[in-house]
Amino acid sequence: MADNSNELMDKLVALCKRRGFIFQSSEIYGGINGFWDYGPLGVELKRNIKDHWWNTVVRQRDDMVGVDCSIIMNPRVWEASGHVTNFNDPLVDCKGCKARYRADKVFTVEVKDGENMLLLAGVDADNADQAKAAATEKANSKTRRRLEEKGDSLAWNMFRADQAQGQTSRCPNCGQELTDARKFNMMFKTFVGAMEDSSAVAYLRPETAQGIFANYKNVLDTSRIKVPFGIAQVGKSFRNEINPRNYTFRSREFEQMEIEFFCHPKEADKWYEYWRDARYKWYVDLGLKSSKLHLRNHEKEELAHYARACADVEYEFPFGTSELEGIANRTDFDLTQHQKFSGRDMTYFDDETKEKFIPYVIEPSGGCDRATLAFLCEAYTEDQAPDEKGVMQTRVVMKFHPALAPIKVAVFPLVKKEGMPEIAQKIHQACKQANLVSFYDEKGAVGRRYRRQDEAGTPFCVTVDGQTLADQSVTVRERDSLKQERIPADKVVQYVQERIR
Ligand code: ATP
Repeated sequence: MADNSNELMDKLVALCKRRGFIFQSSEIYGGINGFWDYGPLGVELKRNIKDHWWNTVVRQRDDMVGVDCSIIMNPRVWEASGHVTNFNDPLVDCKGCKARYRADKVFTVEVKDGENMLLLAGVDADNADQAKAAATEKANSKTRRRLEEKGDSLAWNMFRADQAQGQTSRCPNCGQELTDARKFNMMFKTFVGAMEDSSAVAYLRPETAQGIFANYKNVLDTSRIKVPFGIAQVGKSFRNEINPRNYTFRSREFEQMEIEFFCHPKEADKWYEYWRDARYKWYVDLGLKSSKLHLRNHEKEELAHYARACADVEYEFPFGTSELEGIANRTDFDLTQHQKFSGRDMTYFDDETKEKFIPYVIEPSGGCDRATLAFLCEAYTEDQAPDEKGVMQTRVVMKFHPALAPIKVAVFPLVKKEGMPEIAQKIHQACKQANLVSFYDEKGAVGRRYRRQDEAGTPFCVTVDGQTLADQSVTVRERDSLKQERIPADKVVQYVQERIR
């Protein structure tokens, strides 16, 4: 699995760079680990994802409103939320090469065949399964054959660096000893104002959720909304991840799409199930295959002390199955904490029942960059299609759901003469006026122009040709089926609009 999946990721990363989906941040200076930029195609894709989310969870509902809060907040917020004391990852250093790792991601693997040590290695992996696969990979070919032949009858001993009990953890890079794990707070610190002392310390928000809790009373007092209701927010969050990896999957700056849904404690279980299922369905509706998408309910032991239930929407990325979004029943923990720390009353008074209570909160919390990466992975396809001469060739095509595709339509004149460019320009401008992202291209062979749009994931290409001059019809070519049909030139906008919903 490892080889193929790496190859697929390499191809995807190369395409994203070549076509302007994603660039390394400040690449001209050698980049900066854990930070990424979206190029012209990437920004449209990501914006479409955010817009689709916002439309679904805010605009199409009566029980949801939005906010857009500041990234830097009063640091008391992060004391109340628990982030100042608890938002830690366990950190280990290599005593030899000084490399740093998140201790819960470093596995030390010992494989013994009777008394013979076949392998003693450190592996940097997301979970035990991946660690086992990587360890097998790491063993030299002779050992590997013995591993494969004997399978699990070999003695495997594997432990995480943060759970080592008197055992010595090994560095994945050089094999030397690692230090014991210690706590590392993941919030980025900065100073507000001209004084750089402890009274001026502030944090870049590590999640957007707390801005919502801090405004819960403002929203209640200013809109006529009643429990049950939700507040949604999309925005940047920052975490000083010890080991950013897997392309944009684990970044230090990323965007979240979060909802806090406030309800009566007695209705919390119902709303939890509602949001868990609704959020899963959202990804399926936008084209993630349900065979690759999993809803994983957390075991009791995995739950945070304040949470009643939690589930992750997970996607089978080429580098392993990982979380896209978490849906949690957070009880009244956050509002109670803010009531305690701010001294403000966070209770809700129900006019009808005359009951006063602190609402329970259901939190669907998704990552926009992770969703974008999942849609990119899902879209990447290599298939066979005929070139200009009718010879079958491998083509790379990004099969995005049309609603997410960065460019909706490309318009080509077949040749640069006989008035074709003028007609094509008119169609292109009409699409732009209708807010359809349209791309005009008159350079090179038409087959090549199609291929470029396939790589961008453009669902429709419209070609103005000789027949257009006679009967004002154009050819529309559909990206996935390669089917072509003729439609009136003045119906292009409507045709595309109907098919991208
Ligand atoms: P993980 O266990 O992968 O670090 P988490 O459980 O800490 O994630 P949450 O705190 O639940 O993540 O954050 C909610 C969502 O924010 C995640 O589901 C993910 O989509 C996104 N997210 C969190 N950390 C990152 C990151 N470093 N880079 C990109 N997206 C992130």
